[in-house]
Parts: sequence; structure tokens; C-alpha cells
Amino acid sequence: MQTIYDLNLKMLEEVLAEYGQKPYRAKQIYHWLYQKRCSSLDEMSDLPAALIDRLKENYCLDPLKELTRQVAKDGTTKYLFEMQDGSSVEAVLMHFHFGDSLCVSSQIGCNMGCSFCASGLLKKQRDLTAGEMAAEVMYVQKELDAVQGRVDNIVIMGTGEPFDNYDNVMRFCEIINSDHGLAIGARHITISTCGIVPAINDFAKGHYQYNLAVSLHAPNDELRAKLMPVDRAYPLDRLMDALKKYSEDNHRRLTFEYILLHDVNDTDEHAVQLADLIRGMNAYVNLIPYNEVDENGYHTTNEKKALHFYDILMKHGVKATLRSKHGEDIDAACGQLRAKHEMGSRTE
Ligand code: SAH
Repeated sequence: MQTIYDLNLKMLEEVLAEYGQKPYRAKQIYHWLYQKRCSSLDEMSDLPAALIDRLKENYCLDPLKELTRQVAKDGTTKYLFEMQDGSSVEAVLMHFHFGDSLCVSSQIGCNMGCSFCASGLLKKQRDLTAGEMAAEVMYVQKELDAVQGRVDNIVIMGTGEPFDNYDNVMRFCEIINSDHGLAIGARHITISTCGIVPAINDFAKGHYQYNLAVSLHAPNDELRAKLMPVDRAYPLDRLMDALKKYSEDNHRRLTFEYILLHDVNDTDEHAVQLADLIRGMNAYVNLIPYNEVDENGYHTTNEKKALHFYDILMKHGVKATLRSKHGEDIDAACGQLRAKHEMGSRTE
């Protein structure tokens, strides 16, 4: 059954019109869903009982349940949720000095096939709906309510390629960003893409205020195509042109994600090439320590070398940050917990 979290305000108003209800009821319902954070549609005590019944005939509230979780020493919590069709998705809550960030999944499995990533171990089964993504957030927010906590930031960096599920992801962002919804500021929402150029162009035209992060991971096509098959469809020259246009038209700073893989993409030469590729753009590079995945043979660059790589970028005029590891003692890499759960002992 479709979750009511799937409806943006306009869709909800349309549904209510069909039911012969006044449009103001939509905001009332949103208030129950996102501010009071009701745990059942029956709690909406200022709505007519007949309306609640009608909604319940057509919509459920929670389309997911928790299957398992892992909590790291630093408090990072990885949830594994089961959807109504029995498939499972992950979400990861991380605590930072600037607030709590929730990393949500956008698809069940992923077809992008990046060679270092655990998500690709399980092919895409389907896209998540906007409401299923919103339900990931609501589940965690309701848990944080108990300790007066708040999901401050959303990063769409879990399993899946958000720009391969563009419409649902954009509606999800709209719902959680809505003043009548969770009111998470657009600049607190980050969409991470592996570089699907037509969707980047659409995103640029939409003039959204959400942050855009791009998984680069290599400074030339030869290496990037080996790591990320998407590079063959959308090579670096096309990707960088689209990103420059996005950034200039929207006056937005971009983030490039670059996982450091030992002896694969972390030499001095790679750093110089990367700086040459990005210099002059309104962008910075987020250097990410690799979370090792048993299956694929890639290793993490050590801290000293990571710092050296960072220094080269800075010296060559490119801003960078070196991200600290979160949830190191749990299966925090994208898709790791899910892959382990689905494949049973194979990855134990
Ligand atoms: N498909 C989107 C979003 C999901 S992946 C994208 O490619 O951006 C989110 C980020 O996590 C990407 O930068 C991805 O390359 C990175 N990632 C994947 N596996 C990882 C691992 N084992 N360790 C660290 N980062 C990883």
C-alpha cells in the first residue's frame, strides 16, 4: 500500500479534492505527519472520522520496519529497514559537531556497478518512492524525538544512484524541505551523483538550492572508467562541462567526492591531475577514507599519504577537506550491511 509520506502538499490537496474535502485539510494532515509526527493516522483528532477512514483505505503511514541495526563506538548508527515487499534498505545516522546527518538510500540495490562499492554487489531491484525515502527520515526523526534530537542534514548517499531515480528523489527533497513538512533547509540536503549528465542538466535548470556532490574518484577517463562504468557513458569532459554550467548558472559551490584507494588513485600524479581538472571551478574536493569491502581487493590509503595528497591539492590551488572516518567498526560502507544480510554467510 502506498505511504501517505509519498504525497507532496499539492498531491495531497488533489486527493482531498477527490474526497470532497477543503484544501486546508492538507496542511492539517502535514502538521500531524511532520510536526506532531503521529505514529498512526487515527491520531489526527481534528479530522473527520470519515476522512481518516478514507485515507486509511488508500494509504499506510509507515512502509518500513527495522530489521536490524549496528551502532559504532562513535555513535554512528546503521539501520537496516524492510520494505513492504520484503526488500531491504539501509540508512546511516552520523553525529557531527554541526549536527546529526542522515544518509538515506534512494534505490534497492544499484546498477551503476562501481567496482569499489558494496551497493553494486546487489543489482537494482527497484527505485524507492519519495514516501519510502521520507519514511527512512521519519523513522529516525521519531527515534531522535525521544532525546530532543533532530535530523539536521540529509545526504542522499546511501545505496542507489539518486539521479537514476530523479523524479522520486526530487519529490522526496520537496517533502522534507517543505515548511509544512520537516522543514529541513535546502542547503542542509545534499544529493550525491556518480555523474549522470542529462540529470545534472535537468537539476541545473530547476535552480534548486539543494547541494550537489559528485563522485569523481579518478582524475582521468582511463582510470575512472575502470572504477566507475558510468564514465563510459558520460566521460569527464562532458561531466565537467555540465557541472561548470550548473555551478555558474546557479552560483553554487560543488563538492567532489574522492575516495582514496591505496595505489589506485592516490599517487602524486593523480593529485596534480585532479587539481588541474578542478582548478578555477567553484568547488572543493572531499577526500574520503575508503571503507574496505571484503570482496573487491581495494585498500584504504594510509593517513600520512592522504594528508600528502591533500597538501598537493591545496598547493595546486584546489580546496579540499579530509573526511574523518565514521562508523569504522560497523559495516558503514554503502550497501555493506545490506549485502551481508542478503548474502548470509558469504560475507561474514
Ligand atoms: N550513487 C551516488 C550516491 C551513493 S554512493 C554516488 O555515486 O555518489 C555515496 C558515496 O559513497 C559515493 O561517493 C561513493 O563512491 C562512496 N562509496 C561507495 N563505497 C564506498 C566505500 N566502501 N567507502 C567509502 N565510500 C564509498
